[in-house]
Amino acid sequence: MKPSFAHLVDQIETLKQRGLYRQRRILESPQGIEIRIDGESKINFCSNDYLGLANHPLVKRRFKDAAEQWGVGSGAAHLVCGHSEEHHALEEELAAFTGRERALLFSTGYMANLGVISGLLGKGDKVFEDRLNHASLVDGGLLSRAELKRYRHGDLGHLDNLLQSASGNQLIVTDGVFSMDGDLAPIADLTALAKAHQAWLMVDDAHGLGVLGTHGAGVLEYFDASSQDVQVLVGTFGKALGTSGAFVAGSKLLIETLIQKAHTFIYTTALPSAIAAATRTSLALIKTEPWRRERLQELVTQFRNGARQLGLNLMASTTPIQPILVGDNQRAMLISAALFEQGFWVSAIRPPTVPQGSARLRVTFSTQHSALHVEQLLVALERAFSNIPECLGKVDG
Ligand SMILES: *Cc1c(COP(=O)(O)O)cnc(C)c1O
Repeated sequence: MKPSFAHLVDQIETLKQRGLYRQRRILESPQGIEIRIDGESKINFCSNDYLGLANHPLVKRRFKDAAEQWGVGSGAAHLVCGHSEEHHALEEELAAFTGRERALLFSTGYMANLGVISGLLGKGDKVFEDRLNHASLVDGGLLSRAELKRYRHGDLGHLDNLLQSASGNQLIVTDGVFSMDGDLAPIADLTALAKAHQAWLMVDDAHGLGVLGTHGAGVLEYFDASSQDVQVLVGTFGKALGTSGAFVAGSKLLIETLIQKAHTFIYTTALPSAIAAATRTSLALIKTEPWRRERLQELVTQFRNGARQLGLNLMASTTPIQPILVGDNQRAMLISAALFEQGFWVSAIRPPTVPQGSARLRVTFSTQHSALHVEQLLVALERAFSNIPECLGKVDG
């Protein structure tokens, strides 16, 4: 008889052979556009720190001061004795910022998505998800034990067909900005469809918050969607806000329900108050410094123009997420490695994070990049793509 878990060795070997093995690199510097790895400096084009707030002096100062004032650990869950004035003030500011009645903090975006969907739905209900939704939304749907139906990416006709036959409570769930493609969900059409079928609509705006909308309130500000249009909004702090944690915003009824029912809110330690305090400073910067968003748009335009001239396979994205489609897993890895050698960190994204045969380089921009950084990246991309022609990779799956 084989020992238990003997198959794990084979699994790892198969992943390696198929170019799907994953490894971490160890950072020797804070998050930013210039980072150190193995004693070498690299220009970073793969973080989600879009506005350059993760290492911002004011955010750090607030964090330090708040740790002095509140200590480090929050000591308990929100419903026990871990809910501080900092947490509460942040919730109120987020509700006002997003134009919702109330907001509720979670420790991560992953937990917010698990908690919201499983807190709202149960057996006999239905959840409809875009095929390219973030893994946490799909996992939330599975955890809820509602019937999970996935519609083709952005395909409202397909969604409409699936909704036709539905009864019971129905929740449509979508990313606001698709995390690996950078494109936007068709919020206005989704809103109309949800209303026609008396379904609720939930938008996870992890990548839009702080980046989209005149005031940075995200994809719903961009499309002018109210809480009657989109009943459930999820935002995260780990991306443009540069800290850590997440929130859900919506009606009083929604938030009251989640406080009673979302396990990932109830049965977990509250985020440190110092994180909540630092996030309040990030939020203030987002509101008062629109130049950060404008700067990002300039970089995106510069990059897209340059990449088009090089004939690179860009995707339909207007956001700071600018993937270059490669297709083959091994080739994507080789190009990423060639860029790294030239001093640029651009991550290769492979299945199962993206569909089979659509491996890509996921280039992301930060307010802190300069026009020169973008120019240098384009030169490096041209070299890497021509040195690693398609025939070098073998098509996978
Ligand atoms: C990053 C991300 C999450 C998870 O948020 P964390 O706070 O990092 O756990 C959820 N949804 C989307 C779309 C994301 O990109």
